[in-house]
Amino acid sequence: MVHTHIVLISAPFQGVINSVIQFAKNLKRMGVKITILSSVSAQNRMAKASSSTPDGLTFVSFSDGYDDGLELSDNLEHFRSENKRRGSKALSELIKASCEEGCPVTGVVYAMLLPWVAEVAREFNLPSAPLWIQTATIFTLYFHYFNGYGDLIKKICDDPSCAIELPGLGKITSHDLPTFMLPSNISSVGLQGFKEQLDALNAEVNPKILVNTFDELESKALRAIGKQYLIAIGPLVPSAFLDGKDPSDNAFGGDLLQKSRDYVEWLDSKPQSSVVYISFGSFFNLQLQEMEEIGRGLLESNRPFLWVSRVLADGEKQEDKLSCKEKLEKQGLIVSCCSQVEVLSHPSVGCFVTHCGWNSTLESLVLGIPVVCLPQFTDQPTNAKLLEDEFKTGVRATKNDEGIVEGDEIKRCIELVMGDGEIGEEIRKNAKKWKYLAKEAAKEGGSSHKNLRAFVDEIEDGFQ
Ligand code: UDP
Repeated sequence: MVHTHIVLISAPFQGVINSVIQFAKNLKRMGVKITILSSVSAQNRMAKASSSTPDGLTFVSFSDGYDDGLELSDNLEHFRSENKRRGSKALSELIKASCEEGCPVTGVVYAMLLPWVAEVAREFNLPSAPLWIQTATIFTLYFHYFNGYGDLIKKICDDPSCAIELPGLGKITSHDLPTFMLPSNISSVGLQGFKEQLDALNAEVNPKILVNTFDELESKALRAIGKQYLIAIGPLVPSAFLDGKDPSDNAFGGDLLQKSRDYVEWLDSKPQSSVVYISFGSFFNLQLQEMEEIGRGLLESNRPFLWVSRVLADGEKQEDKLSCKEKLEKQGLIVSCCSQVEVLSHPSVGCFVTHCGWNSTLESLVLGIPVVCLPQFTDQPTNAKLLEDEFKTGVRATKNDEGIVEGDEIKRCIELVMGDGEIGEEIRKNAKKWKYLAKEAAKEGGSSHKNLRAFVDEIEDGFQ
Protein backbone atom coordinates (compact mmCIF):
# COMPACT_ATOMS: atom_id res chain seq x y z
CA MET A 1 0.00 0.00 0.00
CA VAL A 2 1.26 3.50 -0.84
CA HIS A 3 1.82 5.58 2.28
CA THR A 4 -0.20 8.82 2.15
CA HIS A 5 2.26 11.68 1.86
CA ILE A 6 0.77 15.16 1.67
CA VAL A 7 2.74 18.31 0.93
CA LEU A 8 1.28 21.40 2.61
CA ILE A 9 2.15 24.79 1.21
CA SER A 10 1.81 27.83 3.44
CA ALA A 11 1.81 31.57 2.79
CA PRO A 12 4.05 33.72 5.02
CA PHE A 13 1.38 35.24 7.29
CA GLN A 14 1.05 34.30 10.95
CA GLY A 15 -2.67 33.53 10.64
CA VAL A 16 -2.04 31.20 7.68
CA ILE A 17 0.99 29.57 9.28
CA ASN A 18 -0.93 28.80 12.47
CA SER A 19 -3.75 27.14 10.54
CA VAL A 20 -1.42 25.18 8.27
CA ILE A 21 0.61 23.82 11.18
CA GLN A 22 -2.48 22.83 13.11
CA PHE A 23 -3.91 21.16 10.02
CA ALA A 24 -0.60 19.31 9.58
CA LYS A 25 -0.74 18.03 13.17
CA ASN A 26 -4.31 16.78 12.66
CA LEU A 27 -3.31 14.90 9.50
CA LYS A 28 -0.29 13.45 11.21
CA ARG A 29 -2.50 12.05 13.96
CA MET A 30 -4.30 10.16 11.18
CA GLY A 31 -1.01 8.54 10.13
CA VAL A 32 -0.33 10.79 7.12
CA LYS A 33 3.26 11.75 6.31
CA ILE A 34 3.51 15.53 6.06
CA THR A 35 6.02 17.82 4.39
CA ILE A 36 5.47 21.56 4.75
CA LEU A 37 6.82 23.66 1.89
CA SER A 38 7.01 27.38 2.50
CA SER A 39 9.03 30.49 1.81
CA VAL A 40 12.06 31.21 3.96
CA SER A 41 10.23 33.92 5.94
CA ALA A 42 7.34 31.57 6.71
CA GLN A 43 9.73 28.85 7.70
CA ASN A 44 11.63 31.15 10.00
CA ARG A 45 8.38 31.58 11.85
CA MET A 46 7.55 27.89 11.78
CA ALA A 47 10.66 26.05 12.79
CA LYS A 48 13.93 27.80 13.40
CA ALA A 49 16.09 26.48 10.57
CA SER A 50 15.71 22.86 11.66
CA SER A 51 14.65 20.29 9.11
CA SER A 52 12.23 18.65 11.47
CA THR A 53 10.32 19.64 14.63
CA PRO A 54 9.49 17.55 17.68
CA ASP A 55 6.03 17.13 16.14
CA GLY A 56 7.67 15.09 13.39
CA LEU A 57 6.68 17.50 10.64
CA THR A 58 9.26 17.94 7.89
CA PHE A 59 9.93 21.45 6.61
CA VAL A 60 11.37 22.44 3.25
CA SER A 61 11.83 26.09 2.35
CA PHE A 62 12.45 28.17 -0.77
CA SER A 63 13.40 31.79 -1.18
CA ASP A 64 10.65 33.90 -2.74
CA GLY A 65 12.76 37.07 -2.57
CA TYR A 66 11.03 38.23 0.64
CA ASP A 67 13.17 36.32 3.12
CA ASP A 68 12.79 38.96 5.84
CA GLY A 69 9.00 38.81 5.62
CA LEU A 70 6.29 40.63 3.74
CA GLU A 71 5.05 44.03 4.90
CA LEU A 72 1.61 45.45 4.10
CA SER A 73 3.40 48.22 2.19
CA ASP A 74 5.19 45.78 -0.17
CA ASN A 75 4.12 45.34 -3.78
CA LEU A 76 1.76 42.36 -3.47
CA GLU A 77 1.65 41.76 -7.24
CA HIS A 78 5.42 41.36 -7.32
CA PHE A 79 5.34 39.11 -4.28
CA ARG A 80 2.68 36.90 -5.85
CA SER A 81 4.53 36.48 -9.14
CA GLU A 82 7.86 35.70 -7.43
CA ASN A 83 6.19 33.35 -4.99
CA LYS A 84 4.62 31.53 -7.94
CA ARG A 85 7.77 31.37 -10.08
CA ARG A 86 10.13 30.21 -7.37
CA GLY A 87 7.52 28.15 -5.47
CA SER A 88 6.55 26.14 -8.59
CA LYS A 89 10.17 25.15 -9.12
CA ALA A 90 10.62 24.18 -5.46
CA LEU A 91 7.43 22.10 -5.43
CA SER A 92 8.37 20.26 -8.63
CA GLU A 93 11.80 19.44 -7.20
CA LEU A 94 10.28 18.27 -3.93
CA ILE A 95 7.83 15.94 -5.70
CA LYS A 96 10.59 14.46 -7.87
CA ALA A 97 12.90 13.98 -4.88
CA SER A 98 10.14 12.24 -2.89
CA CYS A 99 9.85 9.59 -5.63
CA GLU A 100 13.60 9.02 -5.66
CA GLU A 101 13.57 8.69 -1.87
CA GLY A 102 10.86 6.01 -2.01
CA CYS A 103 8.14 8.02 -0.24
CA PRO A 104 6.32 9.68 -3.12
CA VAL A 105 4.04 12.64 -2.56
CA THR A 106 0.44 11.44 -3.02
CA GLY A 107 -1.42 14.75 -2.61
CA VAL A 108 -0.98 18.48 -2.18
CA VAL A 109 -2.88 20.91 0.06
CA TYR A 110 -2.12 24.60 -0.22
CA ALA A 111 -3.11 27.83 1.45
CA MET A 112 -5.80 29.36 -0.73
CA LEU A 113 -4.66 32.19 -3.02
CA LEU A 114 -1.57 30.26 -4.14
CA PRO A 115 -3.35 28.79 -7.21
CA TRP A 116 -0.06 27.99 -8.96
CA VAL A 117 0.16 24.95 -6.72
CA ALA A 118 -2.82 23.31 -8.46
CA GLU A 119 -1.07 23.69 -11.84
CA VAL A 120 2.09 21.97 -10.57
CA ALA A 121 0.05 19.18 -8.94
CA ARG A 122 -1.80 18.59 -12.23
CA GLU A 123 1.50 18.31 -14.11
CA PHE A 124 2.42 15.44 -11.80
CA ASN A 125 -1.09 13.96 -11.88
CA LEU A 126 -1.52 14.51 -8.15
CA PRO A 127 -4.78 15.43 -6.38
CA SER A 128 -4.72 18.88 -4.79
CA ALA A 129 -7.04 20.99 -2.66
CA PRO A 130 -6.80 24.49 -1.23
CA LEU A 131 -7.09 25.17 2.48
CA TRP A 132 -9.38 28.18 2.92
CA ILE A 133 -8.58 29.72 6.26
CA GLN A 134 -11.46 32.19 6.33
CA THR A 135 -15.15 31.43 6.76
CA ALA A 136 -17.35 29.38 4.44
CA THR A 137 -19.50 32.54 4.42
CA ILE A 138 -16.72 34.62 2.84
CA PHE A 139 -15.91 31.93 0.31
CA THR A 140 -19.58 31.73 -0.64
CA LEU A 141 -19.85 35.51 -0.92
CA TYR A 142 -16.85 35.68 -3.25
CA PHE A 143 -18.18 32.71 -5.21
CA HIS A 144 -21.58 34.38 -5.66
CA TYR A 145 -19.85 37.60 -6.70
CA PHE A 146 -18.30 35.82 -9.70
CA ASN A 147 -21.30 33.58 -10.37
CA GLY A 148 -24.32 35.70 -11.10
CA TYR A 149 -24.64 38.00 -8.09
CA GLY A 150 -21.88 40.56 -8.78
CA ASP A 151 -24.31 43.30 -9.84
CA LEU A 152 -26.55 42.77 -6.83
CA ILE A 153 -23.58 42.97 -4.46
CA LYS A 154 -22.34 46.14 -6.19
CA LYS A 155 -25.84 47.58 -5.74
CA ILE A 156 -25.70 47.36 -1.94
CA CYS A 157 -22.33 49.09 -2.02
CA ASP A 158 -24.03 52.05 -3.70
CA ASP A 159 -26.83 52.13 -1.14
CA PRO A 160 -25.68 51.19 2.38
CA SER A 161 -29.29 51.16 3.64
CA CYS A 162 -30.18 48.34 1.24
CA ALA A 163 -29.93 44.67 2.35
CA ILE A 164 -29.83 41.58 0.12
CA GLU A 165 -30.15 37.88 0.70
CA LEU A 166 -27.90 35.45 -1.16
CA PRO A 167 -28.18 31.63 -1.24
CA GLY A 168 -26.83 30.19 2.01
CA LEU A 169 -26.23 33.56 3.63
CA GLY A 170 -28.42 35.70 5.86
CA LYS A 171 -29.29 39.35 5.18
CA ILE A 172 -26.25 41.37 4.11
CA THR A 173 -25.59 45.10 3.85
CA SER A 174 -22.45 46.84 2.61
CA HIS A 175 -21.46 47.19 6.27
CA ASP A 176 -21.05 43.38 6.44
CA LEU A 177 -19.05 42.86 3.25
CA PRO A 178 -15.36 41.98 3.26
CA THR A 179 -13.54 45.21 2.40
CA PHE A 180 -12.08 43.62 -0.75
CA MET A 181 -15.61 43.86 -2.19
CA LEU A 182 -16.13 47.55 -1.55
CA PRO A 183 -15.98 49.85 -4.62
CA SER A 184 -12.78 51.51 -3.37
CA ASN A 185 -11.06 48.09 -3.43
CA ILE A 186 -12.92 46.31 -6.17
CA SER A 187 -9.87 45.76 -8.38
CA SER A 188 -7.78 44.74 -5.40
CA VAL A 189 -5.32 41.87 -5.32
CA GLY A 190 -7.62 40.06 -2.86
CA LEU A 191 -10.58 39.80 -5.20
CA GLN A 192 -8.44 39.16 -8.27
CA GLY A 193 -6.50 36.51 -6.40
CA PHE A 194 -9.77 34.84 -5.52
CA LYS A 195 -10.86 34.86 -9.17
CA GLU A 196 -7.60 33.20 -10.19
CA GLN A 197 -8.14 30.63 -7.46
CA LEU A 198 -11.69 29.95 -8.67
CA ASP A 199 -10.42 29.50 -12.24
CA ALA A 200 -7.84 27.02 -10.98
CA LEU A 201 -10.58 25.11 -9.17
CA ASN A 202 -12.80 25.13 -12.24
CA ALA A 203 -10.04 23.30 -14.08
CA GLU A 204 -10.33 20.42 -11.55
CA VAL A 205 -12.62 17.46 -12.32
CA ASN A 206 -13.59 17.09 -8.68
CA PRO A 207 -12.84 20.36 -6.88
CA LYS A 208 -12.66 20.33 -3.11
CA ILE A 209 -11.95 23.15 -0.72
CA LEU A 210 -11.00 22.47 2.87
CA VAL A 211 -12.44 25.14 5.16
CA ASN A 212 -11.35 26.11 8.66
CA THR A 213 -14.84 25.97 10.13
CA PHE A 214 -17.21 23.25 11.32
CA ASP A 215 -20.52 21.97 10.00
CA GLU A 216 -22.60 23.14 12.96
CA LEU A 217 -21.15 26.66 12.82
CA GLU A 218 -21.84 27.49 9.17
CA SER A 219 -24.16 24.78 7.96
CA LYS A 220 -25.99 26.88 5.35
CA ALA A 221 -22.94 28.62 3.86
CA LEU A 222 -21.13 25.27 3.61
CA ARG A 223 -23.95 23.83 1.50
CA ALA A 224 -24.68 26.92 -0.59
CA ILE A 225 -22.55 26.16 -3.62
CA GLY A 226 -22.57 22.40 -4.01
CA LYS A 227 -22.56 19.35 -1.83
CA GLN A 228 -18.96 18.22 -2.14
CA TYR A 229 -17.33 21.58 -2.74
CA LEU A 230 -16.65 22.97 0.74
CA ILE A 231 -15.40 20.53 3.36
CA ALA A 232 -15.34 21.73 6.97
CA ILE A 233 -12.24 20.47 8.80
CA GLY A 234 -11.92 23.04 11.60
CA PRO A 235 -11.57 24.55 14.03
CA LEU A 236 -7.80 24.55 13.49
CA VAL A 237 -6.87 25.33 17.07
CA PRO A 238 -4.29 23.44 19.20
CA SER A 239 -5.90 20.13 20.13
CA ALA A 240 -5.31 20.51 23.89
CA PHE A 241 -8.23 22.98 23.82
CA LEU A 242 -10.43 20.58 21.85
CA ASP A 243 -10.19 16.85 22.60
CA GLY A 244 -7.53 17.40 25.30
CA LYS A 245 -5.86 14.07 24.47
CA ASP A 246 -2.50 15.71 23.85
CA PRO A 247 -1.93 18.35 26.55
CA SER A 248 1.42 19.27 24.95
CA ASP A 249 -0.38 20.53 21.80
CA ASN A 250 -1.34 23.77 23.52
CA ALA A 251 0.25 26.41 21.29
CA PHE A 252 0.68 27.08 17.61
CA GLY A 253 3.95 25.42 16.50
CA GLY A 254 4.80 28.37 14.30
CA ASP A 255 4.26 30.92 17.00
CA LEU A 256 7.81 32.22 17.29
CA LEU A 257 6.90 35.81 17.98
CA GLN A 258 8.92 37.29 20.80
CA LYS A 259 6.82 37.12 23.90
CA SER A 260 7.41 37.62 27.57
CA ARG A 261 5.83 35.30 30.11
CA ASP A 262 5.03 37.95 32.73
CA TYR A 263 1.43 38.12 31.67
CA VAL A 264 0.64 34.59 32.90
CA GLU A 265 1.61 35.47 36.45
CA TRP A 266 -0.36 38.70 36.15
CA LEU A 267 -3.44 36.81 34.88
CA ASP A 268 -3.07 34.32 37.75
CA SER A 269 -3.48 37.19 40.20
CA LYS A 270 -6.88 38.30 38.80
CA PRO A 271 -10.36 37.04 39.75
CA GLN A 272 -12.25 34.65 37.49
CA SER A 273 -13.68 36.13 34.24
CA SER A 274 -12.61 39.65 35.26
CA VAL A 275 -9.99 40.52 32.63
CA VAL A 276 -10.60 42.24 29.28
CA TYR A 277 -8.14 40.96 26.66
CA ILE A 278 -7.47 43.26 23.67
CA SER A 279 -5.65 42.25 20.49
CA PHE A 280 -5.82 43.19 16.82
CA GLY A 281 -3.98 40.21 15.34
CA SER A 282 -0.51 39.66 14.02
CA PHE A 283 0.02 42.50 11.54
CA PHE A 284 -2.53 45.29 11.85
CA ASN A 285 -1.52 48.50 13.64
CA LEU A 286 -4.09 50.92 15.04
CA GLN A 287 -3.83 54.67 14.58
CA LEU A 288 -2.80 56.56 17.70
CA GLN A 289 -6.24 58.21 17.94
CA GLU A 290 -7.92 54.79 17.92
CA MET A 291 -5.57 53.63 20.66
CA GLU A 292 -6.35 56.72 22.74
CA GLU A 293 -10.05 55.86 22.50
CA ILE A 294 -9.48 52.25 23.48
CA GLY A 295 -7.40 53.46 26.42
CA ARG A 296 -10.21 55.80 27.47
CA GLY A 297 -12.82 53.04 27.18
CA LEU A 298 -10.70 50.69 29.28
CA LEU A 299 -10.11 53.29 31.98
CA GLU A 300 -13.81 54.09 32.15
CA SER A 301 -14.78 50.41 32.30
CA ASN A 302 -12.46 50.16 35.32
CA ARG A 303 -11.74 46.48 34.73
CA PRO A 304 -8.30 44.81 34.63
CA PHE A 305 -7.06 44.35 31.07
CA LEU A 306 -4.31 42.69 29.06
CA TRP A 307 -3.62 44.62 25.86
CA VAL A 308 -1.41 43.41 23.01
CA SER A 309 0.04 46.47 21.33
CA ARG A 310 2.43 45.50 18.56
CA VAL A 311 5.86 47.05 18.24
CA LEU A 312 6.03 48.97 14.94
CA ALA A 313 8.53 48.02 12.22
CA ASP A 314 10.90 50.81 13.33
CA GLY A 315 10.94 49.42 16.88
CA GLU A 316 8.64 52.13 18.20
CA LYS A 317 6.14 51.24 20.91
CA GLN A 318 2.90 53.04 20.15
CA GLU A 319 1.65 52.85 23.73
CA ASP A 320 4.55 55.10 24.79
CA LYS A 321 2.75 57.94 23.02
CA LEU A 322 -0.57 57.44 24.81
CA SER A 323 -1.61 60.40 26.92
CA CYS A 324 -3.16 58.05 29.52
CA LYS A 325 -0.31 55.52 29.60
CA GLU A 326 0.48 55.93 33.30
CA LYS A 327 -3.12 55.48 34.39
CA LEU A 328 -3.48 52.49 32.08
CA GLU A 329 -0.45 50.80 33.59
CA LYS A 330 -2.02 51.00 37.04
CA GLN A 331 -5.11 49.18 35.85
CA GLY A 332 -3.79 46.66 33.33
CA LEU A 333 -0.87 45.21 31.45
CA ILE A 334 0.31 46.14 27.94
CA VAL A 335 2.48 43.57 26.13
CA SER A 336 3.86 43.45 22.60
CA CYS A 337 2.91 39.83 22.03
CA CYS A 338 1.46 36.83 23.82
CA SER A 339 0.29 33.31 23.14
CA GLN A 340 -3.33 34.21 22.51
CA VAL A 341 -4.76 30.72 22.96
CA GLU A 342 -3.03 30.53 26.33
CA VAL A 343 -4.52 33.88 27.34
CA LEU A 344 -8.03 33.07 26.13
CA SER A 345 -7.96 29.76 27.98
CA HIS A 346 -6.97 31.43 31.26
CA PRO A 347 -9.85 31.43 33.78
CA SER A 348 -9.41 35.12 34.61
CA VAL A 349 -10.23 36.28 31.05
CA GLY A 350 -13.88 37.29 30.61
CA CYS A 351 -13.99 39.31 27.37
CA PHE A 352 -12.00 39.63 24.16
CA VAL A 353 -11.91 42.97 22.32
CA THR A 354 -10.92 41.74 18.86
CA HIS A 355 -10.37 42.83 15.27
CA CYS A 356 -12.27 39.64 14.33
CA GLY A 357 -9.54 37.93 12.30
CA TRP A 358 -10.91 34.46 11.62
CA ASN A 359 -8.32 32.69 13.79
CA SER A 360 -9.06 35.00 16.68
CA THR A 361 -12.79 34.50 16.11
CA LEU A 362 -12.47 30.70 16.15
CA GLU A 363 -10.23 30.83 19.21
CA SER A 364 -12.86 32.92 21.03
CA LEU A 365 -15.51 30.31 20.16
CA VAL A 366 -13.38 27.28 21.07
CA LEU A 367 -12.45 28.85 24.40
CA GLY A 368 -15.96 30.16 25.11
CA ILE A 369 -14.97 33.83 25.47
CA PRO A 370 -17.51 36.57 24.63
CA VAL A 371 -16.30 39.29 22.30
CA VAL A 372 -16.48 42.98 21.53
CA CYS A 373 -15.96 43.33 17.77
CA LEU A 374 -13.85 46.15 16.32
CA PRO A 375 -13.38 44.91 12.74
CA GLN A 376 -10.85 46.77 10.59
CA PHE A 377 -10.59 45.36 7.08
CA THR A 378 -10.57 42.25 4.80
CA ASP A 379 -12.95 39.56 6.12
CA GLN A 380 -13.24 41.11 9.58
CA PRO A 381 -16.55 43.02 9.09
CA THR A 382 -18.22 39.80 7.90
CA ASN A 383 -16.79 37.86 10.85
CA ALA A 384 -18.09 40.57 13.19
CA LYS A 385 -21.55 40.20 11.68
CA LEU A 386 -21.40 36.42 12.19
CA LEU A 387 -20.30 36.86 15.81
CA GLU A 388 -23.06 39.33 16.58
CA ASP A 389 -26.00 38.02 14.49
CA GLU A 390 -25.35 34.31 13.88
CA PHE A 391 -23.17 32.94 16.68
CA LYS A 392 -24.50 35.60 19.06
CA THR A 393 -21.40 35.60 21.25
CA GLY A 394 -20.69 39.31 21.17
CA VAL A 395 -21.50 42.84 20.12
CA ARG A 396 -20.08 44.97 17.35
CA ALA A 397 -18.92 48.43 18.36
CA THR A 398 -20.29 51.34 16.33
CA LYS A 399 -17.92 53.81 14.68
CA ASN A 400 -18.47 57.58 14.76
CA ASP A 401 -18.75 59.68 11.58
CA GLU A 402 -14.95 59.79 11.33
CA GLY A 403 -14.75 56.00 11.34
CA ILE A 404 -13.38 55.79 14.90
CA VAL A 405 -14.86 53.76 17.75
CA GLU A 406 -14.99 56.15 20.69
CA GLY A 407 -14.05 55.30 24.26
CA ASP A 408 -17.66 55.57 25.49
CA GLU A 409 -18.77 53.05 22.90
CA ILE A 410 -16.00 50.64 23.89
CA LYS A 411 -17.00 50.95 27.54
CA ARG A 412 -20.68 50.38 26.62
CA CYS A 413 -19.83 47.21 24.67
CA ILE A 414 -17.58 45.80 27.40
CA GLU A 415 -20.31 46.39 29.98
CA LEU A 416 -22.93 44.76 27.74
CA VAL A 417 -20.80 41.65 27.32
CA MET A 418 -19.42 41.34 30.87
CA GLY A 419 -22.21 42.95 32.89
CA ASP A 420 -25.13 41.38 34.75
CA GLY A 421 -27.84 42.29 32.21
CA GLU A 422 -29.88 39.83 30.15
CA ILE A 423 -27.89 40.48 26.97
CA GLY A 424 -24.60 39.64 28.69
CA GLU A 425 -26.06 36.45 30.15
CA GLU A 426 -27.35 35.34 26.77
CA ILE A 427 -24.01 36.09 25.12
CA ARG A 428 -22.10 34.12 27.75
CA LYS A 429 -24.53 31.21 27.41
CA ASN A 430 -24.00 31.15 23.64
CA ALA A 431 -20.22 31.30 24.08
CA LYS A 432 -20.43 28.16 26.27
CA LYS A 433 -22.62 26.46 23.67
CA TRP A 434 -20.09 27.02 20.86
CA LYS A 435 -17.25 25.88 23.08
CA TYR A 436 -19.08 22.58 23.50
CA LEU A 437 -20.04 22.25 19.83
CA ALA A 438 -16.49 23.03 18.63
CA LYS A 439 -15.16 20.19 20.79
CA GLU A 440 -17.86 17.85 19.51
CA ALA A 441 -16.94 18.64 15.90
CA ALA A 442 -13.21 18.07 16.44
CA LYS A 443 -13.34 14.89 18.51
CA GLU A 444 -12.90 11.44 16.99
CA GLY A 445 -16.15 10.68 15.17
CA GLY A 446 -17.18 14.36 15.24
CA SER A 447 -18.17 16.11 12.00
CA SER A 448 -14.79 17.72 11.19
CA HIS A 449 -12.85 14.60 12.15
CA LYS A 450 -15.03 12.48 9.86
CA ASN A 451 -14.75 15.01 7.02
CA LEU A 452 -10.96 15.02 7.26
CA ARG A 453 -10.80 11.21 7.39
CA ALA A 454 -12.96 11.02 4.24
CA PHE A 455 -10.70 13.57 2.53
CA VAL A 456 -7.58 11.51 3.34
CA ASP A 457 -9.31 8.39 1.98
CA GLU A 458 -10.07 10.27 -1.23
CA ILE A 459 -6.45 11.42 -1.54
CA GLU A 460 -5.45 7.76 -1.21
CA ASP A 461 -7.83 7.00 -4.12
CA GLY A 462 -6.43 9.94 -6.12
CA PHE A 463 -9.80 11.81 -6.03
CA GLN A 464 -11.31 9.17 -8.38
N1 UDP B 1 -1.58 35.69 17.89
C1 UDP B 1 -0.91 35.33 19.04
N2 UDP B 1 -0.36 36.31 19.79
C2 UDP B 1 -0.45 37.63 19.50
C3 UDP B 1 -1.16 38.00 18.33
C4 UDP B 1 -1.71 37.00 17.56
O1 UDP B 1 -0.82 34.16 19.39
O2 UDP B 1 0.09 38.43 20.25
C5 UDP B 1 -2.16 34.63 17.05
C6 UDP B 1 -3.64 34.44 17.31
O3 UDP B 1 -3.85 33.47 18.33
C7 UDP B 1 -4.15 33.96 15.97
C8 UDP B 1 -3.21 34.64 14.96
O4 UDP B 1 -2.06 35.03 15.68
O5 UDP B 1 -4.02 32.56 15.85
C9 UDP B 1 -3.85 35.87 14.34
O6 UDP B 1 -4.73 35.44 13.35
P1 UDP B 1 -6.05 36.23 12.99
O7 UDP B 1 -6.67 35.51 11.84
O8 UDP B 1 -6.92 36.38 14.18
O9 UDP B 1 -5.58 37.67 12.63
P2 UDP B 1 -4.48 38.24 11.58
O10 UDP B 1 -3.19 38.28 12.29
O11 UDP B 1 -4.47 37.29 10.40
O12 UDP B 1 -5.04 39.60 11.27
